[in-house]
Amino acid sequence: MRQDETTVVPCPGCGKSVPWNESSPYRPFCSKRCQLIDLGEWAAEEKVIAGSQLLSDQDEWSEDSGKDQF
Ligand SMILES: [Zn+2]
Repeated sequence: MRQDETTVVPCPGCGKSVPWNESSPYRPFCSKRCQLIDLGEWAAEEKVIAGSQLLSDQDEWSEDSGKDQF
């Protein structure tokens, strides 16, 4: 028998193989980040890092040109 064979599930967030045991506290997610992504709570901080280029343009616009419009 293979008692040491670990059940592996795909992470709903990124598809990465996640061992279904105590080594994966966020199972079925591979990490806390994927868990937050699924919950939709990642947009607050993770999206700023991932899309920093897109958001940085808007930030500069609001600081520089925003004052003129107000
Ligand atoms: Zn994942």
